Amino acid sequence: MSRKKLRRRPSMKNSPERTCVGCRQTGQQADFERFVLDSARRVSLDVSRKLPGRGAWLHLNAACFELAERRKGWQRAFQPPVLVPDVFFEQCRQICEKEILAIAQRQRQTGDLVLGIDPVKSQIADLDAVICSATCRTGVIEFLRQSALPVVQIQLSEHQIGECIGLLKPVHVLGLSRLSSRYRERLTRFIGAADMKSRKSSKSI
Ligand SMILES: [Zn+2]
Repeated sequence: MSRKKLRRRPSMKNSPERTCVGCRQTGQQADFERFVLDSARRVSLDVSRKLPGRGAWLHLNAACFELAERRKGWQRAFQPPVLVPDVFFEQCRQICEKEILAIAQRQRQTGDLVLGIDPVKSQIADLDAVICSATCRTGVIEFLRQSALPVVQIQLSEHQIGECIGLLKPVHVLGLSRLSSRYRERLTRFIGAADMKSRKSSKSI
């Protein structure tokens, strides 16, 4: 079967082309996260994508982090001296978790957050995404992953999640419903990164 290959021409209107400092592939800005140097010349994640100064772009995944380090991508992207923080990868993962929980907290305020394993299971058809604790049972996560929803397991306990979203009780599973397209996009950005497994700390250079 011959299939006409469509040449992908991404719209450049709102998303300029960027190059990953890890794998060096180019793509639309929306596929990358922006990094800047802080006042101590440490590379740091710019979740707002708006901080002043020179920015470098990276696919937010473990492989590209690794490549950026190995190929000295950060040093190439910024004027020296450039410091890559210890546990940089882990730090970025934690920032992403915070962003995800901030979205959950916002959904809670608008009444669009479902709390707990059983309520999430029974309302799964109405949800947009699911967040699980680090201590959530594998069977539960497997069940949730069978849905077509994005499911992210973050490295926080049920108690920490409860605290983060201002509850007085621990909660293993959060279901997010009625996400606006803006928040859906934000969530998608951070889910990939939060899913990155922690690994050994990177060295500072
Ligand atoms: Zn990359």
